[in-house]
Amino acid sequence: MADFGGDVEAFRAEARAWLDENFPPSLKTTAGRRAATADAKLWRERVAAQGWGAPTWPREYGGAGLSRAEARVVAEEMARAGAYNPIGGLGIMSIGPTILELGTPEQKARHLPHIARGEFEWCQGYSEPGAGSDLASLQTKCEDKGDHWLINGQKIWTSVANLADWCFCLVRTDPAAKKHEGISCVLIDMRQPGVETRPIKLINGDSPFCETFFTDVHAAKDDVIGPLNGGWTIAKRLLQFERDNISIGLGAGALGSPAAAPLAVEDYARRYVGLDDEGRLADPDLRKRLVEHKMEHQAFQLTLARAADEAKSNQGPSNAASIMKYAGAKIAQDRAELIVEAMGANGLGWEGDGFDGQELAQTRAWLRSKANSIEGGSSEINLNVVSKRVLGLPDPK
Ligand SMILES: Cc1cc2nc3c(=O)[nH]c(=O)nc-3n(C[C@H](O)[C@H](O)[C@H](O)COP(=O)(O)OP(=O)(O)OC[C@H]3O[C@@H](n4cnc5c(N)ncnc54)[C@H](O)[C@@H]3O)c2cc1C
Repeated sequence: MADFGGDVEAFRAEARAWLDENFPPSLKTTAGRRAATADAKLWRERVAAQGWGAPTWPREYGGAGLSRAEARVVAEEMARAGAYNPIGGLGIMSIGPTILELGTPEQKARHLPHIARGEFEWCQGYSEPGAGSDLASLQTKCEDKGDHWLINGQKIWTSVANLADWCFCLVRTDPAAKKHEGISCVLIDMRQPGVETRPIKLINGDSPFCETFFTDVHAAKDDVIGPLNGGWTIAKRLLQFERDNISIGLGAGALGSPAAAPLAVEDYARRYVGLDDEGRLADPDLRKRLVEHKMEHQAFQLTLARAADEAKSNQGPSNAASIMKYAGAKIAQDRAELIVEAMGANGLGWEGDGFDGQELAQTRAWLRSKANSIEGGSSEINLNVVSKRVLGLPDPK
């Protein structure tokens, strides 16, 4: 696209014209998006070629070199056109921005263009059976074998590990050092012998994550991100990117259950609770709580937009991402609660007669929302970050 020299409205007109010309109309429906059609493939290729998979990344790494304001225009215009960004996942959300900021020039050149084009699925090897919130207790062993790293250990709750091509993984490279000081962040090719994944079922019936086992798995010597034994700093920075992006997903009502709630929350209430003689929602108590939720959601979205505008020159998120992650999880969970409450007995379906797919989807979305305050760091842990790193309060210990 042409360089608009900061004229966002001129850029908007161009983006709109591009979308009108390039977004296949067959993908406007949820069903259309779910099918692996030729149109879906074409759309992915077009977005990748345009650099809009990672719109703010430099062009040399597969992005479009857009400002944050322009990237927001792309997202807004996609929503207006009924389109969506087909390139995402943990590559774009978490490891991509981390490599862009902290990787070597060689690491950037090797990994970022593939991520920006959505060519590989990435997973996150942080949690272990004995290391969740207390992440620095992780034990997965990584030994220097001269021309490669050798990795042995187990991860858990690894989202999409069974589908992943690559894993960004926290490993222990110095078992003798203090626990925060012997950790490194290494990139592991998941398509090699010795990698085993066993899907685990989530409460809503999906299997989005896995137990992941590494037995004599290899990693390239130059696939350690950041300094050797300096992985804790990398891990924390990556979590800021992740929490920032999770907040945006939660604000859009998308995390974990894309398009699960196609109606606005008040439309569910209108449909299932009904209206009184004056055209208001018939249940005054639900009406009050629904209005409170809508106000909170609106304030959250405006705060996200303001934070994006105020972020100086693509400097990226800070520890304040924990505020947004905490608030976003609460608002998403309130929304799911209000929807099933409004649906009454219809909101309790799992399978069988008498429920259409829409109602079943809401029950499952409500169950899925329980994970919002756990994934990406639990709400308690995010509150601890806010207390210590944003407010500067003393550690209670
Ligand atoms: C849907 C989903 C997807 C996930 N995907 C991934 C993934 O891709 N990769 C990955 O590595 N992990 C993933 N996780 C794991 C997630 O990061 C952990 O579940 C989370 O960090 C909590 O760790 P834990 O489950 O071991 O709970 P614990 O750490 O055992 O915590 C149990 C409870 O104690 C509380 N608690 C613990 N420590 C403190 C403290 N210091 N102060 C106050 N309260 C505390 C917690 O808030 C929580 O309520 C995923 C989890 C979910 C639910």
